[in-house]
Amino acid sequence: MMDNSPVSALKAQIDAAHRILLTSHIRPDGDAVGSLLGLGLALQDIGKEVNLVLEDGVPVIFRHLPGSEEIYKKPIGVYDLTIALDCSDISRVGNVLDEHGQADINIDHHPTNTYFGRLNFVDTKAVATAEIIVDLMSAFDIPLTKNIAASLLTGIIMDSLGFRTSNMTPKALRTAATLHETGVDLPGLYHKVLLQHSYEAIRYWGKGLSNIEREGRLIWTTLSLEDRREIGYPGRDDADLVNVLSSVEDIDICVILVEQSDGTVKVSWRAQPGFDVSGVAMQFDGGGHKPAAGATIPGHLDHVTRDVLEATRKLL
Ligand code: 5GP
Ligand code: MN
Repeated sequence: MMDNSPVSALKAQIDAAHRILLTSHIRPDGDAVGSLLGLGLALQDIGKEVNLVLEDGVPVIFRHLPGSEEIYKKPIGVYDLTIALDCSDISRVGNVLDEHGQADINIDHHPTNTYFGRLNFVDTKAVATAEIIVDLMSAFDIPLTKNIAASLLTGIIMDSLGFRTSNMTPKALRTAATLHETGVDLPGLYHKVLLQHSYEAIRYWGKGLSNIEREGRLIWTTLSLEDRREIGYPGRDDADLVNVLSSVEDIDICVILVEQSDGTVKVSWRAQPGFDVSGVAMQFDGGGHKPAAGATIPGHLDHVTRDVLEATRKLL
């Protein structure tokens, strides 16, 4: 739980601000979009003008969330306060804050957070940044509307993989219950963000599943640009295949490596409780949590795979 002084400092900054720029990370997930919209709508409700920005835009699965159509890819106009959400370091926002030079406020839950903001609210016990937003709204007496709750619950559901990650807490469940009480469709949100996949995504899984390799308690797979092209999968991500890999029995760590068109490889690690993959991700300039971390690494898919496996084996 956050102590009160930074909360009052944040309150003072928000009270003094007229137009607030809110942003979150590239390749936005449910917590990025959910925290952004949740806090954005809450600030609008107390009379602030907000500019919501995600460099990569809003993924299709979140476009049903009220307010998502007001999220832009670049900042518009002037603003006097900037807030970065769910970002462990400043590079995660992409180029959004380049003109401003820094984030005034950094609200996040990653243990690898670098405290890059002028004011930093980092609660590593929170299962999602969205959970911290609920705490802040309550501290600021901003009512939870159904629209705000839909976004914030999306963040909690997605980051906790449906209330089942090892960092889940009774408090996070209570927060989810409070959000559910506003009347939001919890099963519907859950289905949309965790269960439902496109036909192309499942066929893309097929590619990744046929490339799986195992070495003791480590498994990994790769998805090449060629795999993606063959299937016609529209995203640059792994289509959540990592969650399938992490369900394999008798495995401690799984890794998925996805070739990108800009000469980099997006790597995701997942680990069983007792292992910490955030450090190995940081070695490659990434970050994350003990059981789930990621990095974007320049280089050829084969070379990056070799280097990543070499570093990862040391954890086992
Ligand atoms: P994923 O592998 O699903 O992209 O991410 C797993 C976790 O690692 C998430 O908490 C995400 O925020 C973090 N993460 C993923 N990629 C990066 C990265 O390039 N840099 C940092 N700092 N964190 C990352
Ligand atoms: Mn998060």
